[in-house]
Amino acid sequence: MVEHFPLRLVDSHMLAPSVRHLVFERVDGAPLAFVPGQFMQVHFEYADGTPTRRSYSVATVGDGASPVAQVEIAVSYVDGGAATALLGNLALGEVIAASGPYGRFCLQDADRNGRYLLLATGTGVTPYRAMLPRLEKLLAAGDREVVLLYGARTERELLYGEQFEAFAQAHANFTFHGCLSREPRSIPRASDRRGHVQHVLAELEPRADHDIAYLCGNPNMVDAAYAALKDFGLPVQHIRREKYVSAR
Ligand SMILES: Cc1cc2nc3c(=O)[nH]c(=O)nc-3n(C[C@H](O)[C@H](O)[C@H](O)COP(=O)(O)OP(=O)(O)OC[C@H]3O[C@@H](n4cnc5c(N)ncnc54)[C@H](O)[C@@H]3O)c2cc1C
Repeated sequence: MVEHFPLRLVDSHMLAPSVRHLVFERVDGAPLAFVPGQFMQVHFEYADGTPTRRSYSVATVGDGASPVAQVEIAVSYVDGGAATALLGNLALGEVIAASGPYGRFCLQDADRNGRYLLLATGTGVTPYRAMLPRLEKLLAAGDREVVLLYGARTERELLYGEQFEAFAQAHANFTFHGCLSREPRSIPRASDRRGHVQHVLAELEPRADHDIAYLCGNPNMVDAAYAALKDFGLPVQHIRREKYVSAR
């Protein structure tokens, strides 16, 4: 059920030079019920008083089933962006208006695929961070594989990269490929790939009878990966998309 609630900033740090991780708590002290993969909206006004809003995927790692006490998001700064100015300058203790949860970019209990292909660029990786506890449960059954292809220009821009690496180390059937398009890691890892995520797909040989794909982040990446997966024969209901389009 969608609710409107004020959020107070209780913590933050920079994940990359222009990406801020923000941790909020509801001012009313209530937890937020959400399904990993969903997003919330931040409501504010332009300088002329016109109301507007922006969407942000919930990044919180809960237990995958219960409401969470803290609402975490990662905000990638956009030059001249209205929400960027608000969220980039928000001080600890300040309050913003929010609503949610929204969206259906979630794992589905009825899926019977052998493998999930999770693709992301930039802050588009945050829904997968929130999904980690659910993925852990799926992987524990032993008959599923999950591959995360995460695209960034450089290793500094692989947000939560060490968390995904650690998850991959702990789960044999979870693979994490950092796909670096501009500059390889200073100390390359065997799982690294060069180039854009949609170009790394071919090596995984996606199959209609085996794979379900999730695509999140930059709209150009989502469109290119969608086209590539359709060429591999995946039906459209097995290619789930969340495009981070500007609301303006
Ligand atoms: C479902 C959904 C979930 C989202 N989740 C996240 C998230 O978790 N983290 C996150 O950072 N963003 C996310 N976004 C994008 C976010 O909602 C905003 O669009 C983004 O933060 C820019 O808002 P802004 O007000 O700062 O810029 P705006 O004022 O909207 O835009 C300023 C200018 O920059 C251009 N612009 C906007 N976005 C980009 C961009 N990405 N690259 C280049 N130019 C751009 C606009 O066209 C405009 O000219 C999501 C979007 C959707 C639809």
